[in-house]
Amino acid sequence: MEPIFEIIGVVIIILVIWFIAKQVEYFFISVKLFKKMIQLQEDMMKLLLDIRDNTKSFKPEIPEVIECPHCKATLKLNETERQTRNFNCPNCKKEIIL
Ligand SMILES: [Zn+2]
Repeated sequence: MEPIFEIIGVVIIILVIWFIAKQVEYFFISVKLFKKMIQLQEDMMKLLLDIRDNTKSFKPEIPEVIECPHCKATLKLNETERQTRNFNCPNCKKEIIL
């Protein structure tokens, strides 16, 4: 056999091995990327759930002056009443929960 064919044969084998190695490398990169994507999706889900929960528990601030839902009297609230959201109407003495 001519030595030139032996050299070509070796070069072809090296190229095939190199090609397979690259395929294996790409496969592992794909797996890594896929895992990252899954992680990202989970994080996004968590974030969305957090936003939903925060929006649900968010209560708008109570104005300083409100109308009693029972006797319709105009009530001026102090800071404690506005924060606790629970007090008795000074006019009709009924409990008001905001
Ligand atoms: Zn009242």
